[in-house]
This record gives sequence, structure tokens and C-alpha cells, in this order.
Amino acid sequence: MIKLIIFDLDDTLYNEIDFVYGGFMEVAVFLSNKYEINKDILFKDMVEILNSQGRGKIFDYICEKYHFEENIGNLVRIYRHHKPKIFLYNDAYEVLEKFKAKYKLGLITDGYKDTQWNKIKALNIEKYMDKIIVTDDYGKEYWKPSIRPFQMMLEYFNIKPEEAVYIGDNPNKDFLPCKELGINSIRIIRPIGDHMNTFLDEKHEANYNIKSLLELENILEELK
Ligand SMILES: [Mg+2]
Repeated sequence: MIKLIIFDLDDTLYNEIDFVYGGFMEVAVFLSNKYEINKDILFKDMVEILNSQGRGKIFDYICEKYHFEENIGNLVRIYRHHKPKIFLYNDAYEVLEKFKAKYKLGLITDGYKDTQWNKIKALNIEKYMDKIIVTDDYGKEYWKPSIRPFQMMLEYFNIKPEEAVYIGDNPNKDFLPCKELGINSIRIIRPIGDHMNTFLDEKHEANYNIKSLLELENILEELK
């Protein structure tokens, strides 16, 4: 019987690109005020670099293009500490409301701790979660695919792995620890998200794939 439902955060409960764009705009405004270049042009450039080069060096490219003399670390800080304007996906809101009374609910999320906590506050999901683990609070060795945050979660509730499910979107790291511990795993494949077109070998993939969190009820029924 399933007693505990654990969720991933980014791209599982809300659309991470909204956070990314919000951070870009914050940096664009900062640079725009300093160098008198239109913020919307800078923002559009950042989005184009993201789409063509991926993450990692976006602010380096911008500074190079416009000959800005900037400390990249400072721009990253502005990005990471911006106040996010993000919203739960409709299906996420619906299942959290529905499952709150029925199951124990948990959250395991990677990413810089201040950033992840800002997202959690902005989404106002602490009221749903019986236990939140921001892996970065415990150190880099707790980031997925480490099994440690999952062990912590099970120990906190004193629940067996087979009584828990984890729902995430990233086959690179979300499901390996679940498979290792025996936690049921479910992959959400949404229309938008960095990992939606990534398909790996069996040990990286979840036990179930879904397109909407509304499909969870049937799977939980099946796992009974
Ligand atoms: Mg995710």
C-alpha cells in the first residue's frame, strides 16, 4: 500500500522555464540600467543563447557581445536570488489538494539552496508537504542521484521503500536512486522541459511514464 508520495520540483510541479526567464529579465534590467541598452534586447539575446548553446555560459556570451566589463559570478547571483514569479501547474495544484489528506507528501529537490527555497516560497507549497528536502542544504553529496535524500525521507516517516513513490522528470538522476532503494518511480513527460526528449537505458528510467499528474490516481490504485 502506498503511504508516501514524493515529488520533484522543477518541471514536475511547475514550469522551470518561467523561473529561468524571470532570472534573465532581472539580469537584463541590471545591465540595461548600467549600460543604457534596452532590457528587452538583452533578454531576447539571452533566450536565443539558451536555445542555441544551452545553459552554462549565457552571461559570458552576453558580456562578450556587448563588451560589458562584468563579474559573471555577480550576474549569476542576481539570477539565482531573484524573486521568482512562478505558478504550480494546474494538475500539480489539483493532485496536491486531493492527496494532502490521503497520503504523506514529500519534496526532494536539487539546485542551489537559496534558489530552491525561494521557489518553494513563491509556489506556496510548504502547506502541502509533510517533509521538504532541499538536497543542497546537506551538501553536494546529497544531490540526486544520491540515495541519501531518499533514505532520509523514508526514515523520517518510518516507511518502507515499496510504500513510497517518487515523481520526477529527469531520467539522468531522478530514478536511479529509486531503483536502487526499491521506491516506485514515475516519470512525468510534459510538453515543455529540458529533459522531456531524453530517453535512457532501463535503470535510468521510471517504472511508469505519465503525461499529466492526474494519471497518478490510477497508478496508485494499481500499486495497492
Ligand atoms: Mg525536475
